[in-house]
Amino acid sequence: MVMTTTKTMKTAVYYRNTDVRLEERPIPTIGPGELLVKTMACGLCGGETMEWYLAPRAPKILGHEPTGVVVQVGAGVKGIKEGDRVFVHHHVACMRCHYCQRGYFTMCEQYSKSGIDPGGFAEYFRVPSENAYFDTLVLPDEISFEEGTVIEPMACVLHGVRQTPISHGDTVAIVGLGFMGMCYLELVRLSPAGRIIGIDFSDWRLEKALQLGATHIINPKKESPVDAIKEINEGRLADVVIVTAPTVKAWEQGFALCAKGAHIHFGAPPPPDASLSINPNFLYFNEIKINSAYSASHIDTRSVLEMLASGRLDAKPLITHQFGLDGVQEAIQMLLQAGESLKSIIIPDLTKS
Ligand SMILES: [Zn+2]
Ligand SMILES: [Zn+2]
Repeated sequence: MVMTTTKTMKTAVYYRNTDVRLEERPIPTIGPGELLVKTMACGLCGGETMEWYLAPRAPKILGHEPTGVVVQVGAGVKGIKEGDRVFVHHHVACMRCHYCQRGYFTMCEQYSKSGIDPGGFAEYFRVPSENAYFDTLVLPDEISFEEGTVIEPMACVLHGVRQTPISHGDTVAIVGLGFMGMCYLELVRLSPAGRIIGIDFSDWRLEKALQLGATHIINPKKESPVDAIKEINEGRLADVVIVTAPTVKAWEQGFALCAKGAHIHFGAPPPPDASLSINPNFLYFNEIKINSAYSASHIDTRSVLEMLASGRLDAKPLITHQFGLDGVQEAIQMLLQAGESLKSIIIPDLTKS
């Protein structure tokens, strides 16, 4: 009789925001066109604290901002070899459907169904052939594994910025300065914007925003954002408003900050049962243009990789905490408390026990 032993790995399994367990799972096996990657780092996303979305899908291994080293290459893979340092995008579009043909890759039916197996909060993950083919990027030497974790979320933000026209001299207001807000700030700083106004309840984050290129900051606990922007901006409101917080309150605040002719961009979703009341007369007579961006395409990830490699974008100030796989629950709690933290990344090698 032949004894077979399945090799196992450590993973962090999500049950609820207050219940994430370290569990052993089999190391995935790969087929043709696929890759096996040893996870070196993986960011924790704000979406991974949305219990309303995650609890019905639990138990689940999260993590979709991974970088790692390719340890096994399936038959037929071209351009990627064992030992390569890579970023892997968990979502890829089919490239053939109506939406893909029109360039709306994240609206593709296949897009949100695609994923890595079992997730980035594991010592290893399998990269399906589509992801290996379309959106696995070899990291240049300039980008560390830690910095590479920022590619996916920054690409989501770039996807939003690309849809939001910012003209020379525009006053841009960013509502919410968590990690995503800071990503918007870094990209807006590279635009021809005039004033860049950061709005958040945390003085620590506001201070950080000034360091990252905000020209003005407003804490709504201390002053009315509407009055404060008018004071900064010659009596006008903002030409471009970017709302990064996933709450109805933040969306309402965003509309209140729109100047005539403003573009307002929404970068994060309130829960599915949320509703918002808005005066259509105001929207019409002020020619307010609304857009939103969900996730990122293979074009956005490549663009961000180039911007990080060239040093035009800096991921380092955005990564504030590191945890092992045993620290995912703590990282989730830290993100929810929105204190003195931006991005937490999970490093499997730091796992204790
Ligand atoms: Zn995410
Ligand atoms: Zn498609």
